[in-house]
Amino acid sequence: MDYLKTKLYSVLNNKCPRCHKGSFFQTDKSYNLKSFSVMNDCCELCSEDFRKEPGYYFGAAYVSYALTVALGIGLYALQAVFLDLDTIPFLIMFSLLLLILLPLLYRYARLIWINLFVNYQEFPPEEMNADL
Ligand SMILES: [Zn+2]
Repeated sequence: MDYLKTKLYSVLNNKCPRCHKGSFFQTDKSYNLKSFSVMNDCCELCSEDFRKEPGYYFGAAYVSYALTVALGIGLYALQAVFLDLDTIPFLIMFSLLLLILLPLLYRYARLIWINLFVNYQEFPPEEMNADL
């Protein structure tokens, strides 16, 4: 399967879930703290609406929770093998890691959420909005 057509490509590269060419968030820089969370209203190339309805991204909180739990389990397994920390140092380390990864988790949760409901569609170049 062509990687450029997978949902993983859309999620990891901040791309529109429908055309995989337009940007979902306004900036590709996850650690630009002033604008990492600013989404485009719609895709500039295929006009896919990213703001489908009020509260649409409420479900992304569940995705974020799943990512956080997976990260916590992975970190716990790693520290149990290599560091064998007590509970408090582990929780401090995990909290710091979550704080550092917050912009990435926020963006990945929203991109995963919209990719659950919007499928890739191949567009001929003449159908793409060439104005932008
Ligand atoms: Zn698009």
